[in-house]
Amino acid sequence: MCGGDAIGRCRDCRKLYCRQHGRVLCEACRRSHRVPMTLLAAVGTFPTATCALVGVLYKALNQNVVGPLGVAILIAAALVTVAAMMVVWRHPEGLAHAERFE
Ligand SMILES: [Zn+2]
Ligand SMILES: [Zn+2]
Repeated sequence: MCGGDAIGRCRDCRKLYCRQHGRVLCEACRRSHRVPMTLLAAVGTFPTATCALVGVLYKALNQNVVGPLGVAILIAAALVTVAAMMVVWRHPEGLAHAERFE
């Protein structure tokens, strides 16, 4: 496509890609996957992280989910979510990267 040596074939559209323009997916497919995959990671990670933290801190919370600890949990879950989104943004081709956070 750009004249470079092809190193692989896109998993989705089967187009050849070179070292600069693809990894598992070609550049166009990476771009089209990126936003939905990142949103998916956010939707999947945030509730999971929140539930996990609430589970871990259940005793400390003492059912006071609106207290400072509840806010801290939401902030921590948001940070985990942002981290997961950044990983997926950089690696839209690999679900395995995102699943590590779930
Ligand atoms: Zn290329
Ligand atoms: Zn492709």
